[in-house]
Amino acid sequence: MRKKIIAANWKMNMTVAETVSFLENFRSHVDEVNGVEIVIAPPFTAIAKLSEMLGGSQKISLGAQNMHFEMSGAFTGEISPAMLRELFVRFVILGHSERRQLFGETDAIVNKKVALALASGLKPIVCVGETLEERDAGKVNEVLETQLRGSLAGVTAEQMQTTVVAYEPVWAIGTGRTASPEQAQEAHAQVRKVLAGLVGETAAKVRIQYGGSVKPNNAASLLGQPDIDGALVGGASLEPHGFAEIIKAAVAK
Ligand code: PEP
Repeated sequence: MRKKIIAANWKMNMTVAETVSFLENFRSHVDEVNGVEIVIAPPFTAIAKLSEMLGGSQKISLGAQNMHFEMSGAFTGEISPAMLRELFVRFVILGHSERRQLFGETDAIVNKKVALALASGLKPIVCVGETLEERDAGKVNEVLETQLRGSLAGVTAEQMQTTVVAYEPVWAIGTGRTASPEQAQEAHAQVRKVLAGLVGETAAKVRIQYGGSVKPNNAASLLGQPDIDGALVGGASLEPHGFAEIIKAAVAK
């Protein structure tokens, strides 16, 4: 049984003050919620404060939105896994399509980050997904296979059990356009098939999140699909009540 995992990707939103007021409000909404793993990935500047407020909470884990593939050194503006671990960060989002498209991240770079994250005790959330042009050209399966094989090269079956994959069709991110539950399920089944080729039976244990305009009103139908084990939520995670509603939709599944 794969425990559902709902993660907030705040992107470049939320000051420290906004983070404090979010968490105070959000906690009251998820007080009674159990059985779902919740992750919040704020911007780097809010991680220390959020870590202090969470105090090692088992209900809500801290995530980061990125990290560098070296442990230290002359890499101006970058953050290392050691810095994240010191603040009790548990998850790190890697290979988000915005990183791939706007900051030139390739599968090879993502792979180096995945390897260091795992070696450092961080759980990677590895993002893959096709553009609209690729979908229209009938290349979804091919794109997913290339991204997964490239980003996860060298990851052992044991390491794969602590790794989360997020299927995020690029055309659905921040656009208000969501993949239909059937489209998402089809892609998730393909992701699991590729994972089976990489790590055999362990693929059945890997959690695969859907991401792309998940909202309180579409979460239940997406999370009801057999291979959808959670959600990576951007815009709708910035509002405590709405984000809690998405989490509650996962409890019911
Ligand atoms: C994301 O940032 O990963 C994402 C899915 O964003 P949104 O929910 O806003 O589409």
